[in-house]
Amino acid sequence: MAAKAKARTKAKSKARSKARSGAKTVRVTTSSQRKATPSARGNGEGRDLLARLARGAVVCAEGYVFELERRGYLQAGSFVPEVLFEHPEVVEQLHMDFVHAGSDVTEALTYYVHREKLRVIGREKDLVPMNRQALKIAKSVARRTGTLFAGDLCNTNIYDPADKSAIKEVERIFDEQAGWAADAGVDYFVAETLGWVGEALLALQAIKRHSKVPTVVTFAMHREEATRDGFTPAEACQRLEAAGADVVGLNCHRGPATMMPLIKQIRAAVKCHVAALPVPYRTIPQQPSFMALTDACCGNQRAFPVGLDPFMCTRGEIADFGREAFANGIRYLGVCCGAGPHHIRALAESLGRHPPASRYSVDMSRHAFFGTDKMIRKIQTDYRDKA
Ligand SMILES: [Zn+2]
Repeated sequence: MAAKAKARTKAKSKARSKARSGAKTVRVTTSSQRKATPSARGNGEGRDLLARLARGAVVCAEGYVFELERRGYLQAGSFVPEVLFEHPEVVEQLHMDFVHAGSDVTEALTYYVHREKLRVIGREKDLVPMNRQALKIAKSVARRTGTLFAGDLCNTNIYDPADKSAIKEVERIFDEQAGWAADAGVDYFVAETLGWVGEALLALQAIKRHSKVPTVVTFAMHREEATRDGFTPAEACQRLEAAGADVVGLNCHRGPATMMPLIKQIRAAVKCHVAALPVPYRTIPQQPSFMALTDACCGNQRAFPVGLDPFMCTRGEIADFGREAFANGIRYLGVCCGAGPHHIRALAESLGRHPPASRYSVDMSRHAFFGTDKMIRKIQTDYRDKA
């Protein structure tokens, strides 16, 4: 039955591709093909996620929609990456920037490119080409750079355990997205930002119907230290491990400080590899998720999503998180919404890496006021306490 379903999905999507051909050709720029250099290739070797994790850490940049919003190519609110059609070259460059900064993974930007979200913005008809476009761009970057090519499924926002028709629709959403990613030949799958164990299981089952590659499943924890269906993060991850997930853990919503305690509980509760991809914001016990943060400088308004800048973690804080997580046996590491390439570089360097972007990592020895180089004039260094 699974094989039949796959054949059906393939046949359907082929027919759709044929119908589309010529009508809407979105060209993926080849400009960065020229930019790809040996130094930009291969933060690791091989396309087997589990083999890489057996050898050491895997760094995965996430949070593309937040970074694209900051760059002015995506609207905060719906957070649907229409940029895939409007500026595919920007998406490609973003992938390249993260690889340059140390990401071992190029994840297809299919986050929120599912039926429910496209319906909300009135673009459901673009579902198939938008998914194909995201997969095509990511695959192209992954293959050029020697990074892992990951497919991506995410929260649907309609899952309701008491609503049979909603569950059916969620199954359809996961089934079609998993099918398209499998067609594209992803090296592994990510199912992320999930709030319900029930929904996570549906995502994992859909992936397994279409593919045999490894799957990473990550939950996003809101203020409560429980999933929407009442499981602790450790219990939730145990359930996903038992259902066949290869890597389990948390992504998004929580910053390093409020994710770390939960990640340690998960590490102690499961046997498989654990993933931790916090948002780069200074969340605190009273406001443990980035949606909960309020800004005292702005009338204690909710800072999410476009007022979060004052809460941004420094590179040092992200590096500290990476070191502590790895020392505690967490090997699949990344940064989610809010992450810029500088965070990914800091994370990679905290794990002993030297990605191409490390060529430009800070060196204050030649700074005009704080430098120690003999070329720096005394008239400046004498002034440093007034600078
Ligand atoms: Zn995120």
